[in-house]
Amino acid sequence: RAKQSHQAHLFYSAQMNQRSLARLKLSTDLHHALERNEFRLFYQPQVDAKTGCLCGAEALIRWQHPQKGLLSPAEFIPFAEETGLIVPIGTWVFSEACRQLAQWQAQGLRLVRLAVNLSPRQFSKDLVNTLQEQVIAHQISASQIELEITETLLMQIDDDMVGILHDLHALGFSLALDDFGTGYSNLAYLHTFPLDYLKIDQRFVRGVPNNDSNVAIVKAIIAIAMNLNLQLIAEGVENQAEADFMSQLDCHQLQGFYMAQPLPVEQFNLLLAQAELS
Ligand code: C2E
Ligand code: CA
Ligand code: CA
Ligand code: CA
Repeated sequence: RAKQSHQAHLFYSAQMNQRSLARLKLSTDLHHALERNEFRLFYQPQVDAKTGCLCGAEALIRWQHPQKGLLSPAEFIPFAEETGLIVPIGTWVFSEACRQLAQWQAQGLRLVRLAVNLSPRQFSKDLVNTLQEQVIAHQISASQIELEITETLLMQIDDDMVGILHDLHALGFSLALDDFGTGYSNLAYLHTFPLDYLKIDQRFVRGVPNNDSNVAIVKAIIAIAMNLNLQLIAEGVENQAEADFMSQLDCHQLQGFYMAQPLPVEQFNLLLAQAELS
């Protein structure tokens, strides 16, 4: 009898722990993914709104899972951010971005700028040194890299983080504020950060010029960016109408499925080679 209740208890706690077991498994798998080099970077083109020329790309992580196939960041990045695993993953992303930039250079394919996403969790005192070491090791220039930070970071920013932003900027990295308009960053302080680019979140680009409220928001964001002397990038441009409208409003660069999806490097290389010819 005692044995039975013991077993029932085990079964019960096993159920209770199913979620934590799944999390433990994901955590182990992510460690393995790093060791076995299962992550990939995809590259989404950013084009000049006026000329249509390729002016940069955003590096976006994917996980080539041995059983589950190609996984999107939504399936592991939030967990990695929660657990801190985003720190080693973010270091891999940055190092791979540098390696790829060096390779393009060696192949005679010059890409103007590569954007890399940084999670707030990566903002420790080691960040500046880690990034600088990678840039030096791959013999590339920090000016080729744009670091994308989110409004969430600015909402929780302290003096140390402000210092890190200034150090990164001083090293030559350009800084972009990603997903702008989705958080509640204090507009009054925006000018105190060394930002170069502002990315208008895709939810506001959706449906312009027919969506009146998005038109109003986009115009307000553009006015802010112009005032702060920031370059504007419209995200999530999905059709000609959205592209035309953003370009008419003097948005500098466009990124979205209408121009191209995030591409595996072999496909992105074809675009680079084409741009080299034109
Ligand atoms: P994000 O930084 O805002 O990246 C843009 C996302 O929008 C990408 O999703 C991209 O595929 C998607 N997108 C681009 N154009 C369009 C479009 O026209 N329509 C629609 N509906 N979507 C479009 P993805 O690659 O799934 O990445 C999702 C998020 O995961 C990213 O959002 C970013 O927050 C995060 N992420 C991706 N790679 C990294 C990374 O290396 N490090 C970190 N910390 N986060 C990353
Ligand atoms: Ca981004
Ligand atoms: Ca974004
Ligand atoms: Ca986003």
